[in-house]
Amino acid sequence: MTDRRILEEAQSAAANAYVPYSHFPVAAVLELKDGTLLSGCNVENASYGLCMCAERNVLFMSVTCGVPKEEIASLTVYAPTESLTTPCGACRQVMAELLEPDTPVIVTNGTQEKRYTVRSLLPDSFMLAP
Ligand SMILES: [Zn+2]
Repeated sequence: MTDRRILEEAQSAAANAYVPYSHFPVAAVLELKDGTLLSGCNVENASYGLCMCAERNVLFMSVTCGVPKEEIASLTVYAPTESLTTPCGACRQVMAELLEPDTPVIVTNGTQEKRYTVRSLLPDSFMLAP
């Protein structure tokens, strides 16, 4: 089951989600290899195209904080829904670039969980040629 400390961080971040339109709070927590947790929540806008997912908010924050992807141990996505909520396609593409392919991605609703890797969520992802 999801690490208690990560789940509590996710539930705290989800409580801050700005979701006046969907009423669908989501949180994402990055666990760094040194134990540090970074969290993000989804943020909506009256202009729907400007909404941002929890996963991308926390991944962009990791870039802002200068966290190398090699230092990221896992990404947990939490939504307090009856069935599990998996990341959208846009977030999977961002994960493919900002996380290692084998980074675990744990999806949970607090009682159930499913474990993926970045590669399993978006096989053969788009990348610019080096
Ligand atoms: Zn998304």
